[in-house]
Amino acid sequence: YSSRYQSILQTRLKLPVYKFQSELLEAVADNQIVVIEGETGSGKTTQIPQFLVEIGYATPGKSCVGCTQPRRVAATSIATRVAEEMDVTLGKTVGYTIRFEDISDPNETVLKFLTDGMLLREAMSDPFLSRYSCIVLDEAHERTLATDVLMGLLMEVLPKRKKGSKHGELKVVVMSATLDAEKFQAYFGGAPLMKVPGRTFPVEVFYTAEPERNYLEAATRTAIQIHQCEGPGDILVFLTGEQEIEQACEEIRLGAQDMGKDASELVVYPLYSSLPPAQQRKIFSAAPGPKVVGGKPGRKVVVSTNIAETSLTIDGIVYVIDPGFSKQKVYNPRIRVESLLVSPISRASARQRSGRAGRTRPGKCFRLYTEQSFHNDLQETTYPEILRSKMSNVVLTLKKLGIDDLVHFDFMDPPAPETLMRALEVLNYLGALDDEGDMTDLGRQMAELPLDPQLSKMLICSPDYNCSDEIVSIVASMSVPQIFLRPRENAKAADEAKAQFVDNTSDHITLLNAYATYEEIPQAERRDWCWNNFINDRSISSAESVKKQLKGIMRRLDIPLVTCRGANGSFDTNAIRMALTSAMYMQTAYLQSAGNYLTVKDNQIVYVHPGSSIDSKPQWVVFEEFALTSKNYIRTVTTTRGEWLVEMAPHYFDLENFPECEAKDELMLEYKKLARRMT
Ligand code: ADP
Ligand code: MG
Repeated sequence: YSSRYQSILQTRLKLPVYKFQSELLEAVADNQIVVIEGETGSGKTTQIPQFLVEIGYATPGKSCVGCTQPRRVAATSIATRVAEEMDVTLGKTVGYTIRFEDISDPNETVLKFLTDGMLLREAMSDPFLSRYSCIVLDEAHERTLATDVLMGLLMEVLPKRKKGSKHGELKVVVMSATLDAEKFQAYFGGAPLMKVPGRTFPVEVFYTAEPERNYLEAATRTAIQIHQCEGPGDILVFLTGEQEIEQACEEIRLGAQDMGKDASELVVYPLYSSLPPAQQRKIFSAAPGPKVVGGKPGRKVVVSTNIAETSLTIDGIVYVIDPGFSKQKVYNPRIRVESLLVSPISRASARQRSGRAGRTRPGKCFRLYTEQSFHNDLQETTYPEILRSKMSNVVLTLKKLGIDDLVHFDFMDPPAPETLMRALEVLNYLGALDDEGDMTDLGRQMAELPLDPQLSKMLICSPDYNCSDEIVSIVASMSVPQIFLRPRENAKAADEAKAQFVDNTSDHITLLNAYATYEEIPQAERRDWCWNNFINDRSISSAESVKKQLKGIMRRLDIPLVTCRGANGSFDTNAIRMALTSAMYMQTAYLQSAGNYLTVKDNQIVYVHPGSSIDSKPQWVVFEEFALTSKNYIRTVTTTRGEWLVEMAPHYFDLENFPECEAKDELMLEYKKLARRMT
């Protein structure tokens, strides 16, 4: 073994889970399900799956140990770390699977990290999860939608995977970072609960005297103050998303420069999901040493999303800055809108965050809110995601898994009946479920695609409009992080670059224009081309790989690849807009005389987002996203026509209850035309 292996091994042996290894393996041997609760950083995620592999739970080519993660970054980062710890190649003995990226080998991989969503997807083609001998459900306390559904599914699968069953015994280890573990224990019929003794140091918590007006500014100010006034130790700052994080990094760097030459060095690293892996790994590098011999040691600042709360542990953190917010999914079934909102975290999250400061020695946590606010305004725990999500995708998955009785499915926290009704309704409108709620052939095809049901339907129906090649490009471009870059300091140049791709009837087609241009640029020139055109290089190249994979699935499902591109290279944009409309008509809005839009059925006042390519005020639009901000904006918008809507979804537009307006008159007219044509 390499010397690096030896040195990592020494660190590993000090982790608290080691003392607990034999007790744990005994419990797993004696029980089908074991629940483990342990302090973040005690070594659960990196070590326990290795213990299971070492003791022989996996055989190459036959069975493997799977460990689920709620986040893609955690799955890839931990797989990389574990491969390094085991001194093996990533993608062979140890691998990972996330949506659109499978770095594992069915003949060799014995330990696979995967997102909870991917395991759910695998279950669709392998209902007994036969390739696994052991599944570790990690970060169960996060209660993501997919983890909750997996738990319900395991309750159905486990009795069929007892010792001596066809596929052999399946073991399940549920791991959680918080004291909620009793809840899991009760849910899993009294499975043994084991606690990994934690090793943490006291953390002194500070609150602000007054509420902060601007938490971003407060966070950067606090980081700089710590660097100036506090003893050695690294800093972890929690913010909510990429843009905020990049801005804070920049401002902290500038602030540190202002301190002058004699200040010790400060390095700042961002951490969020769309960051390239090589940059993600930097958070684990050691802080810089002193600038001069005998000088003050340097310091590392990591500015991260929630991922650093429990999923990834960064050693050496002594100071935590917690503004008290994270991006959370919210769903309003009444208006069918699911969005990500910056929302206050729970007290349980705040405690986890402060705990990050006491990993290696006593630390300090600066909460950028008042103590009163902590006690009175924050909820004790966050509601599980299943109570805050739309369920159409889950319902389609469950139906595909043969689970028809949704009402009696063993959810740990059952979703609101209204949310389930909405999901059934949407799937019925899309034609995935018939009027009895049974899956149709279209529904079965839709479930095969790793996409939102609406996008699946769009792709499947696109050959009818002769444009499946274009729709698959659009869908792929929408499945990756933002392709168009618009840096604040360079917004004008970015807008000018985007203008060459703009189709002023459709944001979707604008995206397609950029993507199609990219496809034709020779490989060697692509980087420069992206740079010159304010295109996110990494995003658009992953869109290309997503497209390739989707085309593979289309081939398997016999969905023909046809193009509407003419000999002169231009697209038949009407055809594309019709294909988009055919799957998106449930998100239609129409123009009102005041200049705003009103959504059909739900009657919400909305505005087209100012970043949209649409420069006029078309009568009808379909939209991808409803952003609940200060103003209700619709984003990624395409112009459509009353006649298409009536033709494609006569059952949806309920004229009797449609408010009196120009749009209604147009619909009436179109209905009459349709009726004439049909008789
Ligand atoms: P838990 O799952 O109990 O929270 P982990 O297994 O994630 O704990 O972490 C155990 C230790 O491994 C921590 O000290 C963490 O810093 C370290 N670790 C994890 N990933 C890396 C990495 N990529 N580089 C260096 N150290 C790492
Ligand atoms: Mg962990």
